[in-house]
Amino acid sequence: MTTASALPDALSDTARSFAAGPHRLLIGGERLEAADGRTFETLDPSTGRPIADVPQAGAEDVDRAVRVARAAFDDGRWSGIAAAKRTRAMLALADTVEAHADELAELESLDNGKPVKLAKRVDVALAAEHLRYFAGWPTKIAGETLPVAQPDMHCYTRKEPVGVCGQIIPWNFPLLMAAWKIGPALAAGCTIVLKPAEQTPLTALRLGELALDAGLPEGVLNVITGDGETGAALVDHKDVDKVAFTGSTAVGREIGAKAGRALKRVTLELGGKSPNIILPDADLDVAIRGAYQAIYYNTGQACNAGSRLFVHSDQYDDVLAGLVEAAGAARIGPGLDPGTQLGPLISAEQEERVRGYIEAGKAEGAELVTGGGARDGDGYFVEPTLFSATSDDLTIAREEIFGPVLVALPYDSIEEVARRANDTEYGLAAGVWTRDLAKAHKLAALLRAGDVWVNTWSAGDPAAPFGGFKASGVGREHGREGLQAYLENKTVWVNLA
Ligand code: NAP
Ligand code: MG
Repeated sequence: MTTASALPDALSDTARSFAAGPHRLLIGGERLEAADGRTFETLDPSTGRPIADVPQAGAEDVDRAVRVARAAFDDGRWSGIAAAKRTRAMLALADTVEAHADELAELESLDNGKPVKLAKRVDVALAAEHLRYFAGWPTKIAGETLPVAQPDMHCYTRKEPVGVCGQIIPWNFPLLMAAWKIGPALAAGCTIVLKPAEQTPLTALRLGELALDAGLPEGVLNVITGDGETGAALVDHKDVDKVAFTGSTAVGREIGAKAGRALKRVTLELGGKSPNIILPDADLDVAIRGAYQAIYYNTGQACNAGSRLFVHSDQYDDVLAGLVEAAGAARIGPGLDPGTQLGPLISAEQEERVRGYIEAGKAEGAELVTGGGARDGDGYFVEPTLFSATSDDLTIAREEIFGPVLVALPYDSIEEVARRANDTEYGLAAGVWTRDLAKAHKLAALLRAGDVWVNTWSAGDPAAPFGGFKASGVGREHGREGLQAYLENKTVWVNLA
């Protein structure tokens, strides 16, 4: 059992007291231990030390949570209330998240390792923005009256909530991914069983409590902690109408196959190997800064990381020199240290995976330009690493690494680079750096990716759809399309003759 005093000194008393626990599953407004009493430890990736014990939900707990969510859906305590009331409750939740911004940012930094300043400015702030954006939707969800050919026939559509949603999220942006998932589901009138990743359960548990404080009816948002088996039990539960998943492509394929067999609604936001292309006419300083952020932000643990950098042969050496300089100046350290720019990787397992890729890069003949090493002491730290390669077939140029490892590749023509950029099983994002408008739009049309960023990387907004082509996923989050994924269409025919 971890005690509050064993946690890092940098934590505020509020964050410390929540982090230390005891932690419980949040089901129907009750705080429950797992039915079989099992727990697991969540660790501080900056030190590898345990933070607290968290309940390990088993199939019985999943069943209980889904039943509660089903009852809350069926009795209309959420979908049946006035749309404006759903808006008010969601706005209250967004305000509550903001009011607890410091605490949530510290918990995220502690559990995930990311710099606390970024956790507040990015993760917490955007989580509140997403909830606020989707809070605007309930009063705008409307069907249509259709001009059908039959006379005396009144035909209209209703947009109805899809039902009980099983939502499974990863560890790289835990609170933000929770907000991305619950926002549209709540707006549509669905009820939710949310499962955070085992590595980062704290902010989802806190969010579940804050939702109750903000006045969300009990049973509408249930939070269960556990591992992949917990997630699988949620996907398999017959009373879950829709599954929403963000995580690895391997697990996404499995969930997609299961959802297909059960004919459940499903949206999947999966991996990527996103190309970032610097054209010869780009403002090189801006492009270098952008390429650096595109890969090293969040220590490379982002589905939309710009992990393949294509640079024209004429600028190749200059761009690589700029990246080496920036990487050399990076301050790597614990997330709760205010000077930290790059935190640790999430786990020993992830560190080992990333190191394996670095070894594979060397063994397959890529040139290690900078990084590749560790930081002294405990914690799962890997330096910002840059490889230079000429072959697109290397393992490090094909597979998602999900760490601070960039592969730079030279090219000579636009047609060539577009073809090579698209030669991947993934299609989440792509970037183009240029001052030539015609080339920018030409490439934006050629690149097979869900987001194309021109002279920026990772621009996003709750109103702008996000999601992948090809093996990067199914469906889109955010905006009208994101909401649509939580609605069923019903067509009603009334004979007026
Ligand atoms: P993962 O296994 O796909 O985990 C994502 C979520 O799915 C977690 O909540 C996980 O639970 C749950 N899960 C695992 N197996 C499941 C199953 N069979 N059925 C239902 N849910 C299941 O990802 P990971 O193992 O944490 O990371 C592995 C790799 O995935 C990374 O190296 C990276 O390449 C990729 N990844 C991508 C994203 C993204 O944003 N697209 C995010 C994270 C990781 P537990 O974690 O509790 O076991
Ligand atoms: Mg996992």
